Amino acid sequence: MRLRFWGTRGSIAAPGPGTNHYGGNTSCIQLTTHDGKHVVLDCGTGARLLGNQLMADAKGPISAAILLTHTHWDHIQGFPFFAPLFAAGNHFDVYGPEKCHLSLHDVLSGQMEHHYFPVELDQLAARITYKDLTEGTHQICGMKVGAQHMNHPSPTLGYRFEYRGVSVLYLADHEPFAEGVWRDGAEPGRIESILEPGDRRHAEYMKDADVLIHEAQYTPEEYVTKRNWGHSTYAYVVELAAAAGVRRLFLTHHDPSHDDAFVAEIEQRARQLAQRLGSNMEVSCAYEGCEIEVG
Ligand SMILES: [Zn+2]
Ligand SMILES: [Zn+2]
Repeated sequence: MRLRFWGTRGSIAAPGPGTNHYGGNTSCIQLTTHDGKHVVLDCGTGARLLGNQLMADAKGPISAAILLTHTHWDHIQGFPFFAPLFAAGNHFDVYGPEKCHLSLHDVLSGQMEHHYFPVELDQLAARITYKDLTEGTHQICGMKVGAQHMNHPSPTLGYRFEYRGVSVLYLADHEPFAEGVWRDGAEPGRIESILEPGDRRHAEYMKDADVLIHEAQYTPEEYVTKRNWGHSTYAYVVELAAAAGVRRLFLTHHDPSHDDAFVAEIEQRARQLAQRLGSNMEVSCAYEGCEIEVG
């Protein structure tokens, strides 16, 4: 399968000369299978550019699965600007985590009420279905998709794709369950030695992944004042991913205050940490336009 990052920014779009390389658009990733099926992972502002590209390339009706990790702004704001939704004949299945009070359809239609947007959700010309997902294994576009809850203020799911012997995970947004990763007296670097059961489960989920895309909004220094905001540090992600035997790690959901030089420094620090841990995992900060072939 092929992956392309259309938005790598967290919280709010951050365009400008300082973010030209890593990109200013919020979360959106395109996953394309070998037989040409499209999965859109999150619909941040990057989805606008993806939609335009799909329209330009289309030789017939467009269909895709849209998987939302959750419905915070930075993961849905590109949805009303995704051009293929406005064309009759196109077909989309939209998936997102089940909530207590509102359905996925109601939340998405909320951001398109007339106070906020000129076109209402149910006026979109494409045929669209909405599916509220729970934790567990689902079949989407011929792939096995394992959904698991993240630790985040709004109900949020991570997704693990298994396709022709290849595994790809997309985990955003998520905050560590505990302050420290390792249990006192236990050997660090092993999943069994992880202190908090939630973090252990998170590491198990990413076990032996070919590609892990994980949010890493903060440095450990910044995290001190950002506890309970629902985000990870690159250090937490590298420690868990290395223990889980991940082969390639892409850090994403870059903080809007981080310019290209700062994100590049995070990438260096994350690579050095992986080396210190004795891991040969490849570590990169994802950038807008970045394309990866997997399998
Ligand atoms: Zn986010
Ligand atoms: Zn969020």
